[in-house]
Amino acid sequence: MKVIVIGCTHAGTYAVKQILKEHPKAEVTIYERNDNISFLSCGIALYLDGKVADPKGLFYSNPKELTDLGANVKMLHDVKDIDTENKQVKVEDMNSHEIFEDNYDKLVMTTGSRPVMPPIEGRDNKNVYFCKNWHDAQTLFEKAKTNQRITIVGSGYIGAELAEAFSNHGHDTTLIDTNERVMSKYFDQPFTDKIEAAYQKHNVNLELGQLVKSFSGEDELTITTDQKEIKTDMAILCVGFKPNTELLKDKVEMMPNGALITNEYMQTSNPDIFGAGDSVAVHYNPTGKNAYIPLATNAVRQGILVGNNIEKPTTKYMGTQSSSGLQLYEYSIVSTGMTAELAKKEGFNAHSVLLEDNYRPEFMPTTEPVLMSLVYDADSRRILGGSLMSKYDISQSAGTLSMCIQNKNTIDDLAMVDMLFQPNFDRPFNYLNLLGQAAQAKEAK
Ligand SMILES: Cc1cc2nc3c(=O)[nH]c(=O)nc-3n(C[C@H](O)[C@H](O)[C@H](O)COP(=O)(O)OP(=O)(O)OC[C@H]3O[C@@H](n4cnc5c(N)ncnc54)[C@H](O)[C@@H]3O)c2cc1C
Repeated sequence: MKVIVIGCTHAGTYAVKQILKEHPKAEVTIYERNDNISFLSCGIALYLDGKVADPKGLFYSNPKELTDLGANVKMLHDVKDIDTENKQVKVEDMNSHEIFEDNYDKLVMTTGSRPVMPPIEGRDNKNVYFCKNWHDAQTLFEKAKTNQRITIVGSGYIGAELAEAFSNHGHDTTLIDTNERVMSKYFDQPFTDKIEAAYQKHNVNLELGQLVKSFSGEDELTITTDQKEIKTDMAILCVGFKPNTELLKDKVEMMPNGALITNEYMQTSNPDIFGAGDSVAVHYNPTGKNAYIPLATNAVRQGILVGNNIEKPTTKYMGTQSSSGLQLYEYSIVSTGMTAELAKKEGFNAHSVLLEDNYRPEFMPTTEPVLMSLVYDADSRRILGGSLMSKYDISQSAGTLSMCIQNKNTIDDLAMVDMLFQPNFDRPFNYLNLLGQAAQAKEAK
């Protein structure tokens, strides 16, 4: 079985390792147009913030490791065309510019995504940057040394983390978003109010509810929004990602944004072509529909599934709740599943409950409040989403709620499920039990 893997960051690396583990006789060739593999972009903000001393730690694999495992690794090789009828790819060796063809029995499309480039006038201005890969990280690190005023466009979790990192280092930091609230896709208003207050405390200039119209200027960058002009030294565009799937356009089924649609074995509509990671749509359990939610969590899991299923359908994809989290200043902030706003848009009879309680008893030397919300379907009482925010590390509670959504648990399950009690950690009812009980109380009214 000859397997060609296009793209080798997270989905590709995990797919290759799993293919070689489960199918040692497979002949695996990797084409990667970058000069590195397995870079953890999630470390970029930590690197810029000085929390990662040696950025080389942000790679967990390398071409030699995959070669030693038996793969034929072709770095700086760009796949230019895929002939799905004849099962051939056309590849450019980026060093020699030689173009050659290679053939496959199975193709793995782990080509990932690239930052969305919105149609803003002057977007190719030399002071406008992106934040995706290792080379972007190095550029931003160098540019931040000499640029005092830094503006982030887009307050998703990447923009949010960058704004925090730059403000921690005394930069005049501005965060612009078209939405009226920061991180509005991930959190409902009680959370975003607190996040915005944290930014303001750290002198981040929030320019919300504004659409960027143009970038202009040579040395000083002027950002013109639909409301004002903002003078800055550099801007970083963080307005989302687009799947790199043009090579398969009109050849397999895709979502309107180009994300490959796969079955539960990660096969596209052409069963010999597999996809994983940012190039594919996820099966989003809270709605039961396909959705485009590019996260490393999805990429590594789907990569493993490709490895298991490459020869014959073996392991089914469980789908995802797309849990995510971030540390902003002193707060851990996490979410899983849908916000109340999204659940209503999706047509659920969505109710939500908000609760703030200390994570452990007040008789302990210290404790911290935890702000929590639970979103559920009032008809079936099924949990659809949840968020938590605290100075205490509540990050792993997102995983517990994620499991509840995955298993279609109700607010009643969460209210009473067995959770450990010991005063160092929590109360006789863990704060997640209390959140479930608050939802029950709301529905009893
Ligand atoms: C700043 C930042 C922070 C993030 N933080 C988190 C986080 O905290 N948690 C989380 O879960 N996720 C996070 N993510 C998302 C996560 O990084 C992505 O979901 C993940 O990188 C997807 O991996 P992938 O392998 O599918 O795709 P990609 O990382 O996009 O890699 C695709 C690879 O394919 C190669 N390629 C593409 N086309 C071709 C071609 N034609 N020929 C050859 N090679 C090709 C590319 O060079 C690239 O190396 C973050 C992303 C960013 C940018």
